[in-house]
Amino acid sequence: MDNCIFCKIIKGDIPAKIVYEDDFAIAFLDISPCTEGHTVVIPKQHFEKFTDMDEEDAGKLFASVNKVAKAVEKALNLEGSNIGLNNGKAAGQEVPHVHVHIIPRKEGDNGGAIQSIVKTYPKTDNLEELKEKIKESVK
Ligand SMILES: [Zn+2]
Repeated sequence: MDNCIFCKIIKGDIPAKIVYEDDFAIAFLDISPCTEGHTVVIPKQHFEKFTDMDEEDAGKLFASVNKVAKAVEKALNLEGSNIGLNNGKAAGQEVPHVHVHIIPRKEGDNGGAIQSIVKTYPKTDNLEELKEKIKESVK
């Protein structure tokens, strides 16, 4: 995509602190890091959302994420990291090109868990119904 900032990084038109690259993906330091060493991994092909990717491509992306996350944790001597992606604008995705965040964590950094991003306190008496709905939608 011509006006995509991440596609421009892939093409080399915008400089980035690239830490890893393979045939499918590239990883670089986030320019507005949440914590020191915050890294993003993106597919070289432009997909807007993770759910736009097929299973094979998603698998390739996460193989690279696994490799890079291990490297970030090792290089920075981390105790942990949050690994995740914002899938769509409603979920906080700011750049419309799939990117997986690797956010370095340390004990006592005052950060929360990934499941604390949003709390709508939904009812739980319909879990069976929800289970069936989702199960039927899995292809
Ligand atoms: Zn792009």
